[in-house]
Amino acid sequence: MTRIDDATMAKPVAGIRPIYDLAGKRVWVAGHLGMVGSAIVRCLATESCTILSVDRRSLDLRRQADVEAWMSLHRPDAVFIAAAKVGGIHANNSLPADFIYDNLLIEANIIHTARMLGVEKLLFLGSSCIYPKLAPQPMAEDALLTSALEATNQSYAVAKIAGIQMCQAYRHQHGCDFISAMPTNLYGPNDNFDLMSSHVLPALLRKIHVGKQDRMERIELWGTGSPRREFLHVDDAAGACIFLMKHYSDSQHVNVGFGDDVSIRELAELIANVVGYRGEFLFDTSKPDGPPRKLLNVSKMTELGWSARIGLREGIESTYQWLVNNYAEAISKSRKPPAPAHQSGTHSPMHR
Ligand code: NDP
Repeated sequence: MTRIDDATMAKPVAGIRPIYDLAGKRVWVAGHLGMVGSAIVRCLATESCTILSVDRRSLDLRRQADVEAWMSLHRPDAVFIAAAKVGGIHANNSLPADFIYDNLLIEANIIHTARMLGVEKLLFLGSSCIYPKLAPQPMAEDALLTSALEATNQSYAVAKIAGIQMCQAYRHQHGCDFISAMPTNLYGPNDNFDLMSSHVLPALLRKIHVGKQDRMERIELWGTGSPRREFLHVDDAAGACIFLMKHYSDSQHVNVGFGDDVSIRELAELIANVVGYRGEFLFDTSKPDGPPRKLLNVSKMTELGWSARIGLREGIESTYQWLVNNYAEAISKSRKPPAPAHQSGTHSPMHR
């Protein structure tokens, strides 16, 4: 059954004794201005720790010597790696060199320096794109590297798989307490709302908002509307990262998901309902759909004692409110559309 507005699925985590205490620690959130990083910073406000941050203008994380110098000076005890080059299918497909180069360097520089400086705990953020294109659904952690990846985001996926492997290798060789979390599609405040480089949910939210404002009778969407996707509010994802930081220490990466999915058509209708758009959707079935289903198996996280709290309707309502309140800033901050790729190919920017 599709659960799109169930806000009652929280499981209490209070009472589970942490194995790593953030209290009194110097905690660096790399990528603190991004959607996930800013949510981690918000979530850390209730922990008695000192939050460290630095923006890209002051520190380009692709530069090893600069990363070493900054970390040596600021001496974090714990690190969340939420800095990455991130984008939807169009961006991934158009800029594969940027996606593999930036992401490999960011994670390699931070992880290697963290081990040099004796960082106590580090959480690396990957994504559900690491799983094979035809992985059995829902995708469990052990589906990793069992068959071929989705072609459109291979560069990004390979970089993220390398990050998982680095955490495992540094744990094995150096005894570092470095862990990896793999979230599903995320949405929320500070998302990227650019129609060409964003993920499906923020793109739909913007498109439908504009459709309402311009009193459009219909909005065209790519594909059949039938692919099913999973969406997790970024505040839940941030809570999961902090939960893992405090409660998990092992080499295997952990899926972070909502635990249920919706079709793109259901998502569009839900957003239309939240936004108050009364027109219709026209599905351009000549455009590709992408995989029919992408859902994470979240049993491991559930067994550890964590589940998502924010239902999809509730999450979309608050995200839409945030978009309306911050519209000019949110749109102007959106990433520029990527330049066309040298090899042509049509891929819906909407499905991931
Ligand atoms: P954002 O693009 O919102 O944030 C990424 C942050 O990293 C930005 O602040 C960006 O700075 C910073 N950054 C990128 N490159 C550099 C660099 N070379 N030097 C310094 N800072 C840099 O991404 P998200 O918050 O959405 O994603 C964060 C993590 O979560 C990623 O690892 C991603 O794979 C993962 N994730 C995200 C999902 C999603 O749906 N968004 C889904 C699953 C996983 P600037 O803004 O200046 O470019």
